Amino acid sequence: MGDCLMSADAAAQAAARVMARCDALAEISETAGQLTRVYLSPEHLRANAHVGEWMQAAGMQVWQDSVGNICGRYEGVQPGAPALLLGSHLDTVRDAGRYDGMLGVLTAIETVQWLHQHQLRLPLAIEIVGFGDEEGTRFGITLLGSRGITGTWPSGWLEQQDAEGISVAEALRTAGLDAGNIAQAARQVSDIVAYLELHIEQGPCLEQAQLPLGVVTAINGARRLNCRFIGEAGHAGTVPMQQRKDALAAAAEWMLYAEKRTTECNPHLVATFGTLQCSPGAVNVIPGEVHLTLDVRGPEDQPLAALLAELLETAQAIAQRRGLRFSAEEYYRIDATRCDSGLQAALTRAVMQAQGAALSLPSGAGHDAIAIAERWPVGMLFVRCDRGISHHPAESVMAQDVATALQAYLQAVHDLASRSDSGSEVFQ
Ligand SMILES: [Zn+2]
Repeated sequence: MGDCLMSADAAAQAAARVMARCDALAEISETAGQLTRVYLSPEHLRANAHVGEWMQAAGMQVWQDSVGNICGRYEGVQPGAPALLLGSHLDTVRDAGRYDGMLGVLTAIETVQWLHQHQLRLPLAIEIVGFGDEEGTRFGITLLGSRGITGTWPSGWLEQQDAEGISVAEALRTAGLDAGNIAQAARQVSDIVAYLELHIEQGPCLEQAQLPLGVVTAINGARRLNCRFIGEAGHAGTVPMQQRKDALAAAAEWMLYAEKRTTECNPHLVATFGTLQCSPGAVNVIPGEVHLTLDVRGPEDQPLAALLAELLETAQAIAQRRGLRFSAEEYYRIDATRCDSGLQAALTRAVMQAQGAALSLPSGAGHDAIAIAERWPVGMLFVRCDRGISHHPAESVMAQDVATALQAYLQAVHDLASRSDSGSEVFQ
């Protein structure tokens, strides 16, 4: 392992601060004894205020933008230089863990804190954003914070309502913001060179590899389908086995095929049948109709599409052979987001330096980087979390891993922001 800019002692101190701040933010919740902090709530604004103070203490100029993201800027050598943007989200799911999102914002602040302490200005400015909504807990629509920055809020979002019937527009007003000013949050493409996000892995791969850090290659694309096998209901006692059109038996055959094929196909592809309804649904009736949902995901669109096509073809063949009908309707689709190869290379070098080994992996969960990638190159650094548990109060990371992450993150940020020939092509 080479010498890192941030010493082991400094990293341990900074990591202790990050852990304490994660604990402090976890106290800001709408429910006592558990963490729930949703977009544009009083708790969201209080979290923004704390994070803004910490940014300020790290030498940053701080503002809250027109969609409620908390933003900070650490000026480069030349005032007004384009920025390397770091960030993650400050909103949570209900009864959440304390690291998902917050860890990325607080570690970013520590990297700037270190530069500030060493009175170091780099050719690129460093900006940090704590996104107000990534999870979509309150309004059922996601990535409101990052889509504010990219300037791609669909027109219908302002009318979207929460469970109490409060619209996004009303919630903005209550939070002291103005729905008419949404567009002001959008950043010029030339303002930002690239985006980096540090996040907990939310999966077990790093733990299995016994490494604290991994570099993300892509954020998985996903397709979701409503599927249906239609056969014939009948008496469970009187219809001979050879004459049945059992929709559940067909579905079961298909599900096992899908599990086997997906496993053989590609280690990064996953397929899940998350729901299954059987009708008429009685102990003494042959199932005449089965509804099931299929969720397939993978880091590359083409292999994902090929797998899905094969699974659907097989479902048709199974249905035909058994004298049933099969139909499937896709209702959700998101393409895979590739992480920029130059940013991956910089993160990999930094990770090598900090932990002595590199590991690349795709992200199975969605992140703010999906939206940001529509405008700017993105890179992501994953930190090991206990048993891969997230979206749960048991979510946990080790302070020692956070220290290693800080060493790597600062190294990568310093490397990337030191390149004076700014412009995204430098990272390609
Ligand atoms: Zn997250």
